[in-house]
Amino acid sequence: MIDLGRLAAGDVLVPAGAAAPVAFAAEELAAYVGRLFPATPARRPVAAPGGDWLALVPSGAPMPPLPELPADAEWVVRPANGGAVLRGTSPRATLAAVYALLRAAGCRWSPHGRDDELVPAGAGVAALTGRPAFARRVYVADLGTWHYTVPERLAARLPHDVAFIDWMAKCDATGFLFIRHANDTQWTVPELLPELARRGLAIEGGGHALVELLPRSLFASHPEYFPLAATGRSDLGNACVSSPDAVALIRERATTARAEIPGATDFHLWGLDLFGGGWCTCPGCASLTPSDQSLVACNAAAEAMGGGRIFHLAYHDTIEPPARIAPHPHVWAEFAPRERCYGHALDDPGCATNAVYRRALDAHLERFAGRVDVFEYYGDAILFGGCAVPLVDVIGRDLECYRAAGVRGVSCLVFGQYSTWAYGVNVEAFARGTIDPRDAAGARTERASRRFAPAGDAMVRYLAALEDAMVGVVRHGDVLLPPDDAPTRAGVEAALGREAELRRLLADARAAGAPPARIAAEEHLLDYTVAVLAALRDWLRRRDRADAERALAALAATIAHVHAADPDVIGTWGAHDLELTHHFFVNALRAR
Ligand SMILES: [Zn+2]
Ligand SMILES: [Zn+2]
Repeated sequence: MIDLGRLAAGDVLVPAGAAAPVAFAAEELAAYVGRLFPATPARRPVAAPGGDWLALVPSGAPMPPLPELPADAEWVVRPANGGAVLRGTSPRATLAAVYALLRAAGCRWSPHGRDDELVPAGAGVAALTGRPAFARRVYVADLGTWHYTVPERLAARLPHDVAFIDWMAKCDATGFLFIRHANDTQWTVPELLPELARRGLAIEGGGHALVELLPRSLFASHPEYFPLAATGRSDLGNACVSSPDAVALIRERATTARAEIPGATDFHLWGLDLFGGGWCTCPGCASLTPSDQSLVACNAAAEAMGGGRIFHLAYHDTIEPPARIAPHPHVWAEFAPRERCYGHALDDPGCATNAVYRRALDAHLERFAGRVDVFEYYGDAILFGGCAVPLVDVIGRDLECYRAAGVRGVSCLVFGQYSTWAYGVNVEAFARGTIDPRDAAGARTERASRRFAPAGDAMVRYLAALEDAMVGVVRHGDVLLPPDDAPTRAGVEAALGREAELRRLLADARAAGAPPARIAAEEHLLDYTVAVLAALRDWLRRRDRADAERALAALAATIAHVHAADPDVIGTWGAHDLELTHHFFVNALRAR
């Protein structure tokens, strides 16, 4: 056992000239041990050995020998000479070892930040080994959600991001991906890069970036670079990959783009965020599927970049693997099954929708020789229409399915504070599941007891009932675009049938002494969710145009429930973006 209580009065040994994340790890170790126990260890530099390690020893004791790192481990924590040695495969992994030791001693972290973390009286700890289920464990957000051209919105959001990044490191995440879209003007949020770098977290960039790599301004002089659509060449789509000059330009500009992202080694090279219509039908491209065309661009970039990975996106019209083009060895598939069913796990034999995606995943694993990561939507406020959709059980089963299938990395899309409000339990389940899928289910209890004590048990019952109630609402892609069919109507009505039960469970949690502000936030979210479902039910039951318009007006009015919640809870996305997505969905429904 590691007697942390005694070692609190000792020293944290730090390799002289340690990398910034290792020095940060030493600071964090000393600070949290000092909160767990009555004493704070002193930091003491040691000339040798160099590398990625820290030790906690009795005061004045010499450096113990470094432990072996098993080949399949990212980090180890081992008792040694009355102290403990922490060793990682990287500076980031050394920081992860510190947090694992502190977690084993009783600390609990929160994506909401340090106000919501638990640092109890500490306990001793046995040896620990970091063997995460996935090698790449990443959170993702769209750059547009930062509103970086509006300084006060950006400033309002950044403190939450800093807390979130701190939590990511504490949960052994490996990096953050910034997604660029056609209307973006930058690759990252520069204000956040120091927070990622000092924890050794990878900065990943790219996204729906082909527009940036093949500038639309070239259309006038070189229409042949651009895809041939039914109406002729068009600068609205991706590229004509049969044009060697267009491909050369994409290759060159992708290399430059990656170099502009500080510290980036990988690049995500995706087409436009379209559901078809972005690829080319010229004689040279006609025999290539959208996946093949996308892969031609990725292969070219991979050749030019030498090292690092290029991520090809399997999504929408590229969800099937490339048929004719073979991937370059540095090209990985990023499998993003957005229109899958979230009412069932991906490998649930009872789900016909997911069977298609499960087969497509296997086909990618084969085509890319196992170089496949999964991009998941467990925190997606657009897909779930901003409604409360806990998915703890599905996330655990999905991640086990992905791990068993041979998927090497996983990422989770988030929308700032809104996602830690409406999908907080999902984000925590994902974090746990990336290390061990069997642990994902524990997120419900950990979050409920941490945030809602003394009403933890009541909140567990509420979250479980809500998860069960929403199963029939999340089977078809966007919650706010329900298909006009009987199973969808039944799913929405079944969820509404649980309203009284859900309200009673939440009232039970309030009565059991849950913090009033946190319960109030949950109540606003439930009000919003129920109001959205009622509007969707009415829309699905419409008999005429007037019925439809009344339902759409009711849907638009649901935003008031979100705006009634604390601005710090709903974040800039809840304050500004949800309404825009509602406009989009209302128009799409009206056009049916
Ligand atoms: Zn073409
Ligand atoms: Zn299903």
